[in-house]
Amino acid sequence: MSIEKEIKRLKYERNAVILAHNYQRPEVQDVADFVGDSLELSIKASETDANIIVFAGVKFMAETAKILSPEKMVLLPNPRAGCPMADMVTPHDVRKLRKKYPDAAIVAYVNTTAEVKAEVDICCTSANAVKVVEKLPQKRIVFLPDKNLAYWVSTQVKNKEIIPYQGYCYVHNGFRLKDLLKAKKEHPDAEVLAHPEAPPEVVENADFVLSTSGMIRHAKKSRAKEFIIATEFGLTHRLKKENPGKEFYPMGAPRFCGNMKITTIEDIYNSLLKLQHEIILNKEIIEKARNALEKMVEVV
Ligand code: SF4
Repeated sequence: MSIEKEIKRLKYERNAVILAHNYQRPEVQDVADFVGDSLELSIKASETDANIIVFAGVKFMAETAKILSPEKMVLLPNPRAGCPMADMVTPHDVRKLRKKYPDAAIVAYVNTTAEVKAEVDICCTSANAVKVVEKLPQKRIVFLPDKNLAYWVSTQVKNKEIIPYQGYCYVHNGFRLKDLLKAKKEHPDAEVLAHPEAPPEVVENADFVLSTSGMIRHAKKSRAKEFIIATEFGLTHRLKKENPGKEFYPMGAPRFCGNMKITTIEDIYNSLLKLQHEIILNKEIIEKARNALEKMVEVV
């Protein structure tokens, strides 16, 4: 029997659901029940009747699924799948910032560990960061961990002082203006879609600054037939699948997240077979982190 069929059989036997982030390998995306961005997937998972969630993504995403579905077993198929950006900020760093800026609200991008979420006032995604910051009563906002997303938010909100943490995503931070200009020259009719984790020089010159789910929606409804994409190259698998008549070009050489690509289809199979690499979080962390996520949902 093929590994895809074995996964299907085990999934049924275990009453499990497989979630895959948009940046996962194509064959992993193809065995998933849902493909999307991290929060979208965690919300989907909490709404299913499945007892087990297999999260093909990186650790903070599986943790978010656990925070939103504490009664379910959440498995991370490859335990080495971490996010370097999420690891750039620790709970100790947040406590130091709290002391330094006592009047500020502390906003954490969902790309943070559960322990960091438990220390902050509120979470945000790349899609709702502007709205979250706008709705907060505080004038000063400490925004972590991504300095580029913090910059993008600061250009979109009025009357707020954004204090950026100096973290970054090594995949998105590597996009360059010269690559944007070159791609635009080669494909003059293409729309440029950039993720807000890309550097200021790129987002300032993009036609649209969008989250991954925003790019998926935009590509479907846009009349353009060609797009230059500044995000992890894995997203193009879904973009091409859902838009067969349209072309998607990378900005410069395709950029991949090694941490996202570490999970293989064999890892998914083994995780389901042996029920291995369960996410365990203590109750207090779950409650506090959930609070920061729920506040975000309330605000937006
Ligand atoms: S793409 Fe960037 S933010 Fe996403 S997991 Fe990889 S390093 Fe982390």
